[in-house]
Amino acid sequence: MKKKSIILLISVLIIILVTISILLLNKKKNIYHMETIIDNKQTYVESITTLVTKDKKLNKLLNKYITNQKSHFSTKIKNLNNNYLIGRDELNIDCKLNVLNKTTWNIVVIVAMTGPSFTEAYHEITCITWDTKRQKELNIKNVLPDKSNFKDIKNEVFEKLRKECQTCLSKETFNKIFTEDFKTFEIEKNMMTIYFNPNILENKQIDIIKVTLEVSNKAYYKDAKTKEIKKKKSTPVRIIDSKKPVVALTFDDGPSKYTEEIINILKSYNVKATFFILGNKVDAYQDILRKSIENQNELGNHSYNHKWLSKLSVGDLTYQIDKTQEIIKEKLNYTPKYLRPTYGSVTNRIRKNTNLEIVLWTVDTKDWKYHDANKIIEQATTNIKDEDIILMHDIFDRTKDSLKTIIPKLLDQGFQFVTISELEEVKKIRSITK
Ligand code: ZN
Repeated sequence: MKKKSIILLISVLIIILVTISILLLNKKKNIYHMETIIDNKQTYVESITTLVTKDKKLNKLLNKYITNQKSHFSTKIKNLNNNYLIGRDELNIDCKLNVLNKTTWNIVVIVAMTGPSFTEAYHEITCITWDTKRQKELNIKNVLPDKSNFKDIKNEVFEKLRKECQTCLSKETFNKIFTEDFKTFEIEKNMMTIYFNPNILENKQIDIIKVTLEVSNKAYYKDAKTKEIKKKKSTPVRIIDSKKPVVALTFDDGPSKYTEEIINILKSYNVKATFFILGNKVDAYQDILRKSIENQNELGNHSYNHKWLSKLSVGDLTYQIDKTQEIIKEKLNYTPKYLRPTYGSVTNRIRKNTNLEIVLWTVDTKDWKYHDANKIIEQATTNIKDEDIILMHDIFDRTKDSLKTIIPKLLDQGFQFVTISELEEVKKIRSITK
């Protein structure tokens, strides 16, 4: 009898332990970050933002799609050897995550191919709605709150599609494509957007066709709360001596999984820097960005998803800048004052269409090119002059490592680290006192 109850107790304990570890594992799978990789090649540029999660199955699915798009792009481009920046082709892939509830993610991957090899820009969208618990992809039928209304939705979609484009899809083809297994849809709050890519359309329509539906999907959507930035009891006053040399560290293309550590390194030396961030990563990294602001670093605008600003139309250009300003204001209650155009490429069109001040750099550490932290250190510490702006990227491990040497070295050389706003202040004071 006693033996039996001990066995029973042990089994119960084992069950509890297994449940806890399964729960923890599932929780872990929900951890994600957004990664941006910019590859600046001789004949083309690639800017790819993707979601990286603890869920290997999901990563594999995303990677497979991106790899396919990359090879699709490389077969389309003519590898024109245009040294001139504007003349290069561009592959831009952006990724957006809509967290619908604890176990459902709706991921939208947007592909854009532009440049001299493309007579018209090529766009494509794919969506993955992922059950994080069961680790499987969901279709439209799975996410509709009332499963019986698929037929009604189907009719509505077809009618709206017809309104958008009369000849894009015949009823017959539409019926074949838009089944219960359809997956190219996005869910935001109580709105569902259905995407039809150019490759499935029957006429020569070259852009994606969107159809939006109102769905009572409130149960599906978890509203992200905007957290308040903690007001520090007393913000220490920064004293910058305008008579002594200043230098500004700037970081582009972040935030990333390395940003928090970079912020910590800066703080450990009581050093401030400026981060030119991408709008598409603000949501995923809002806690880290908040911490960055609390530490008195400055945030600047580096476009929404690293599109090549100098090549865009006025509409697309202002969208890239304004959407980034908006999301930073909304999530962080912060308004950037400076814009750093992507690829450091500035045109009069950009100048004319933004109120933000444009900031480039005077020293390129080439951390995107050098994989060795020592090389980056050399670039960032040799021949640095007063008022220099140093370009780095907070998306590399090596950049993070190099800072531990760069900062003390420059401090030893007598430099004060300033943000771009502080640099402007110092310049102003100097011009008055001259
Ligand atoms: Zn950049």
